[in-house]
Amino acid sequence: MKEHTLIEKVIEAFRCLPGVGPKSAQRMLLYLLERDRDGGRRLASLLNDAIENIGNCESCRNLTDSSYCTICQDQTRDSSLLCVVETPADVIAIEHSRSYNGYYFVLMGTLSPIDGRGPEELGVDLLVERCSSDVKEIILAVSSTVEGEATAHYLSELMSALPASITRIARGIPLG
Ligand code: ZN
Repeated sequence: MKEHTLIEKVIEAFRCLPGVGPKSAQRMLLYLLERDRDGGRRLASLLNDAIENIGNCESCRNLTDSSYCTICQDQTRDSSLLCVVETPADVIAIEHSRSYNGYYFVLMGTLSPIDGRGPEELGVDLLVERCSSDVKEIILAVSSTVEGEATAHYLSELMSALPASITRIARGIPLG
């Protein structure tokens, strides 16, 4: 059986990235080897560091390299507002809009029984715990896909007993 060379193995490894086919994988590796070995070293080292050390915030589940993310650590925010989103990318998008100053909860996906994602995978227990403090308004900013709607419906039912009011907005619509 033919052994793969190191170059072939790295090209194959690059292809774990979305949208990267064999041609662009080869181009990226050859670029680093021929023109920017320092950049390649930095990328490899930071990527390794990120993979080993970035986990989920213990309060909101956003990605962070500490126990609590910078948003949860920021005590100047409005603790009466909690915005529930699907992914860390949603947090970044809403933060860029600069129109929201509350806290977040990141589901890290939507309910999807087919893919084995139930309430446990979305951290629903942690969410309920998070909502029982001084949260007065819960904003469900999940996508308006079928799965997003089902997730929003499930969460509204689940949290209807809580004192906080629940607002549903479709993701992609700017807040405020
Ligand atoms: Zn957090």
